[in-house]
Formats: sequence, structure tokens, C-alpha cells
Amino acid sequence: MCGIVGYIGPRTAGSMLIEGLKRLEYRGYDSAGVAMMDDNGGGLQTRKAKGKIAMLENALVASPLDGNVGIAHTRWATHGQPNECNAHPHTDCKGEIALVHNGIIENYSALRKKLQSEGHTFVSETDTEVLAHLIEAVYDDTLEDAVMDALRLVEGTYGIAVVSSKDPNKIVAARKGSPLLIGLGDGEYFVASDVAAILQHTRQVVYLDDGEMAVLTRDGYHVNDLNAVRIKKGVSRIDWDLDQIEKGGFDHFMLKEIFEQPQTIENTMRGRLVESEGFSKLGGLNLSKEELQHIDRVIITACGTSWHSALIGAMMIEEHARIPVSVEYASEFRYRNPIVTERTLCIVISQSGETADTLAAMREAKRRGAKTLGLVNVVGSTIAREDDGGIYLHAGPEIGVASTKAFTSQVVALALLTLKLGRLRDMSVVKGREVAQAMMKLPEQVQEILDRASEIEKIADEFDHATNFLYLGRGFNFPVALEGALKLKEISYIHAEGYPAAEMKHGPIALIDESMPVVFIAPHDSVFDKVVSNVQEVKARGGRVIAILSEEEPSLEGKVDFEFRIPKTIDMLYPVLAAIPLQLLAYYIANKRGLNVDQPRNLAKSVTVE
Ligand code: GLU
Repeated sequence: MCGIVGYIGPRTAGSMLIEGLKRLEYRGYDSAGVAMMDDNGGGLQTRKAKGKIAMLENALVASPLDGNVGIAHTRWATHGQPNECNAHPHTDCKGEIALVHNGIIENYSALRKKLQSEGHTFVSETDTEVLAHLIEAVYDDTLEDAVMDALRLVEGTYGIAVVSSKDPNKIVAARKGSPLLIGLGDGEYFVASDVAAILQHTRQVVYLDDGEMAVLTRDGYHVNDLNAVRIKKGVSRIDWDLDQIEKGGFDHFMLKEIFEQPQTIENTMRGRLVESEGFSKLGGLNLSKEELQHIDRVIITACGTSWHSALIGAMMIEEHARIPVSVEYASEFRYRNPIVTERTLCIVISQSGETADTLAAMREAKRRGAKTLGLVNVVGSTIAREDDGGIYLHAGPEIGVASTKAFTSQVVALALLTLKLGRLRDMSVVKGREVAQAMMKLPEQVQEILDRASEIEKIADEFDHATNFLYLGRGFNFPVALEGALKLKEISYIHAEGYPAAEMKHGPIALIDESMPVVFIAPHDSVFDKVVSNVQEVKARGGRVIAILSEEEPSLEGKVDFEFRIPKTIDMLYPVLAAIPLQLLAYYIANKRGLNVDQPRNLAKSVTVE
């Protein structure tokens, strides 16, 4: 959730750490801080600031730090207000140990009481501070020994990086439940919660696994478990380009990512779609044909936007592969007693591959004997490493907090999986070809929609003062209604709800009046005529209607206030096309309201806490 970056080597750490934090700012941005071993004999020094990284930069201009060993953090508060005092790094009583933390220490309250009774003085409201004092309490010989002893007493999740003036040429990092990796430079080493923070300096990384600790010195690094047993780790190479994590001329990452979709959808399909046979090749499934045929039930589990793509995937799989599918919020699945057998396929969907609830749900499904399949964007992420098989989205880094390109790639990946499962069962080659051909057209069709983004911008002009929105769709487009509503509320803070269109008359219709904009997602599919009746019900009550229609439909002029056309495709793929104008609508409305689209309030990318 938060961002961690650390550096040890010959170079001055300060500007590198700030640069790294800026690349991580999308993960949490309520406060930030840095701790550095001061080269001018000042010992361990920290600077913190409430707000964005720019505020921390100002603090460093006012009171500079000079050194080449340091750790830094951008926070997304879980315990305690986002203020300067609660910002990380946190230190021990003597200011000799500084630590940054991502995650939640669940037994912090008991530990804090015990440490207080032993004379430790706490200054913050965070759960994190307890770690600094705990390390102080058990410190004997080396920093790594103290960190190991302390972590054995801790319950909860963490990614941490620690420095100490008592062992000054060292960074100790450890992980349990929160992502952390080591960057290997030329005579220098990095620690980070996300490759984006260090991509500018190195592409060689070592991913830490849960229960592992890394010790970085000026001469090298090693990894061990919490019993000091050394672990041999492989080095991975990151193939992202730097320009993929920059705005490239767009005002916001979100807009850039919306406009990347023709390319990202293409990338998700590349090398996987066999059009002539109406089939898909998915190399990473790690499931034989027989195993795939043996599956009698699919559970898809996810959170947020990924949960919406899961709903679409469920409809696709049931319709074309005729396997019963249920969709579960990952946070609910993990705490109930679900029916899972060894014939169950559990698909988990997460952009980051680090979503705490989704990861826990996957582990639970595995424990119960299911085969697990991860639909993940970030290569090397925890879900991708722990699942039995998977489909990488290949959408490239998604920095905007509101997910856009990952959503469409998820739907496309689910369509690929549907082809695979369907063609092993009920789906004819003719039907398979029809789906594959429609999929091939998607990149061009998305581009065609994006070329008319200004039409959506004009519609947005009318609605930036709205206080409520309703999104309605049926069939495959009901989840699109949910996703459109989520996009709008995430970044514009306008209350919005998505409903199955016909469900409106069972309650929400009471809300309709002249001030209620209603977005209908009504492409020409099997339920189009029914949706048109719902449009009329809204108009009869004075509501203002924005209709997303497909190109072959007659105009609804007179019946709706605004129309936006999307190209024709098959029913199951309309979500990919219909999502684009809804993403743009949310973006333009939020932008007109003067809000920070890439960093909406209270949210953060990659939810690695429960
Ligand atoms: N639980 C810690 C806090 O509230 C860390 C939060 C984070 O991951 O940024 O300070």
C-alpha cells in the first residue's frame, strides 16, 4: 500500500530516494519521510512531512541531509492520523534505529504496553513505532540479529527496511505479506516495495518471499530466513521501459492509461489467439487438457474493479464453457466456509498481484485443494509466484489509482480463457472463430472510440455539478454499470451506483428526478429492447439519460439526452468497448471538478492490507 525505497552505495542517497518516492506516490500519499546516515557526523537523521512528496522535498531544502545510506517511505495511514509525527521512518527512544514499514502489526497494542512498562517512550499513534522500540529492546550485536529477534515476536504483515547508527553500513529489509524486492546495481544496492522506485537505476531484482530477510551492505547482499538460515535467491530482470512509468505528454497517468488500451488489449492477446481454429494458447496455465476437462466448478475471487471483470468472466465461462461459476469478494471468501474440491478451479484476479484479500483467498482455496489460476498484471508479484498457473495481462505498469487498462485486459484475458475452456467442451469451432475474430477487432475499435473522446468531454461538461449518478446495464453490461459507477465515485467523489437495468423499478426508481443523471449501457445485444423500455421509465420521471449505444442501433433521439456510439461486437465483448466511454466520462468530470485524478483522496493503488 505504502511505498518503501532504500539505498546503500557510493552515491548521495537523498535525491535518489526522493525520486524513488515520487515514482511510488501513487501507492500512498498522505505523508512521507526519509532517514539517512549523515556523512557529516550527525548520526542517524530523519525528515518527515505531512502531504505529498513535494512537502518532504521542501523539508529537505530547509534542512538538508547528506549521506549514502538511507531509507524512505510514502505512507497510506492505517493506524493514526496522516500527520508529520505518524509519518515514517519511526525511531527508537535514542534515535539510533530508524524503520519504514508497509502493512499492519496486529499485536502492536500488547507489545506497546509491554515496552512502555519497560521504560520506552512512544511518540506516534502508529502500529509501526512498536517495531523500532522492539528492535531497540532486543539489540545485542548486529542489526540483522536484532531485527530477526524482534520479528519473531510480531504478528501481522510487514515489508520493512531498517537502518541503525549502531551498525551504520547496512540496510536490513524483511517481508511478510507486503511486497519487497532488492535492486542490484553496480556496486550499489536498493530495496523497494515496487520496481517503479528503482527502475531508473537497475533492472536486476531479487524478490523477497514471506519470511525472508535481506541484509544489504556496501559490498553485497544476502538473504536468509528468520532463523538466519541462508537462502539462495534467483535474480529477475525487469523488462519495463522507463517511459511506461512516465506520463508521456498526458496530463495524468489515468488518461495516458485510458489511451494506451488499443495497445494493451493487443498485448494481452498477442501470441495467444489462434483465430483460424477459434482457440487460445495459454502457456502459463500449467493444467493439462485432462485437468481442464476435469474441472466441474469455477470460483472467481477478486476485489474492486477486478471483481467487476470477474462477473463478466463468469458470464462468459458459463455461457460458452457451460461450467458453473460463482464470483466472490475475496475479503468475504476467505472468512466463510466455501465449498471447494479438487475439481474446483479458483481464478484470482488482481492488477498488482499483491492485493492482500485476494492473496489470502487464493491461499485458502489452495489449502482446500482447488487448482488456482492468477490473472495478474505485475510479473513476479506474490500471487503470480504462488498460484498453480496464470495468465499475465501484459498491460504494462498501471500507475493511475483508478484502474482502466488493467480492467479491459482482465476482460480480454477472461475471454481467452473462455475460448480455451469452451473449446475443450461445448463450443463449436464456428463459435470459437466468431469470438476470436471479434477479439481481433477490439484494439482498432477501442481506438475508434478514443478518437471521439471529445464527444464524451462535452457530455461531461453538463454533469460536473451532479451529486448522484445511476449506471444501468443488463447481462454482460451490468458489471460495466458497476465499473462505470465505481470509476466515477473513486475520482470525482460523486455518489454513483450501478444496477441491473430492470432492477431499477424495484427501488432505485424512487431516486429519479431532473437532478439524477442515468447512464444506460445499451449496446445492441439480446436485451436491447428491454433496456429501451427502462430508458423510457427514467425519462417519464424527468431523469437525464446518457446512453451508450452501439453503431447499428436506431437513434434514441428524443428519448435520451445524450448518445454515444460504440462499434459493433459480440455480446460478451461489449464490456471492453462500453467501459472506455465510462472511463473517459469519470476522468473528464473529475478533472472539471479540479480534483487530483491520479491520486484520489483516501485511496491508494495496490491494497496490501486487509
Ligand atoms: N500501518 C502503518 C501505519 O499506519 C503502515 C501503513 C502503510 O502501509 O503505509 O503507519
